[in-house]
Amino acid sequence: MSAKIIDGKIIAADLRARVAAEVARVKREHHLTPGLAVVLVGHDPASEVYVRTKAKQTEAAGMASFEHKLPADTSLGDLLAVIARLNADPAVHGILVQLPLPKGLDSQKVIDAIDPAKDVDGLNPVNAGRLATGLLALTPCTPLGCIILAKTVHSSLEGISAVIIGRSNLVGRPLVQLLLNENATVTIAHSRTRDLPKVCKQADLLLAAVGKPEMVKADWIKPGATVIDVGINRIPGADGKGKLVGDVDYLGALNVAGAITPVPGGVGQMTVACLLVNTLRAACAIKGIAAPGV
Ligand code: NDP
Repeated sequence: MSAKIIDGKIIAADLRARVAAEVARVKREHHLTPGLAVVLVGHDPASEVYVRTKAKQTEAAGMASFEHKLPADTSLGDLLAVIARLNADPAVHGILVQLPLPKGLDSQKVIDAIDPAKDVDGLNPVNAGRLATGLLALTPCTPLGCIILAKTVHSSLEGISAVIIGRSNLVGRPLVQLLLNENATVTIAHSRTRDLPKVCKQADLLLAAVGKPEMVKADWIKPGATVIDVGINRIPGADGKGKLVGDVDYLGALNVAGAITPVPGGVGQMTVACLLVNTLRAACAIKGIAAPGV
């Protein structure tokens, strides 16, 4: 058996095209140009690549992109002042502070300062709390992408047995809530879980968000299960340059799973596409017009 490969590249491109069409419509009908501001503190090379990609895709979707690059030694006060200006700026509908921040800057204080209406990363406790209580919320982009990918395989997730490995605020915890909203039966595993392989083997839908290269082995996977691999890990490659792998032993899993996301080319592609969705949603909500059809 060889698993169906869930092609994040194609699914994300389709989502970006639908966002672009909706952006064109709100511009035409409501004179609204959604705007995303990304704040980068310091020069982390991976973060610089992410920020560039976000800016490029924001502009390609017809939205306004604002980049704020601040030196690594920026004080918390100065960073909070930038956020206060963006909170007050009517051209900005989404604010994203690229994480991780340089050591010494308290990221929770920064996240707390973002206006929840513009919190397109969905990390502000107001949005996390709204999501946890089943209210409409801006939701973290990576979990949102995972749900979209899972639904390309299962038209409904109702009653499905879903196991998430990882309980971070960025991925695991919001995934629980999104899966509950889909009426899945959810188990969340973490570093203290006993007999993780056995827990994973119960899953019809297994989502790995751990940050440990190829930790999930083929014999942890229920035959025919759908596997969504969130992990992005750089390991040494044959050419000495290093290569990216997920949290799942992809080649082994291909023989057991029913469907699986590759790394790269799976969940990572969806994260930025969902950021565009969130920015469009935030802009419509702030302007007081109906939520877009994406
Ligand atoms: P965190 O480090 O914040 O969380 C990791 C989670 O994995 C924790 O809950 C931890 O448990 C759990 N864990 C660690 N070791 C084990 C283990 N041996 N067995 C079971 N659980 C374990 O990571 P993130 O959630 O931020 O990211 C997870 C992965 O996803 C990373 O590889 C990251 O790069 C990737 N990622 C990818 C994105 C994308 O766009 N594709 C976006 C965001 C993240 P405990 O809580 O007990 O410590």
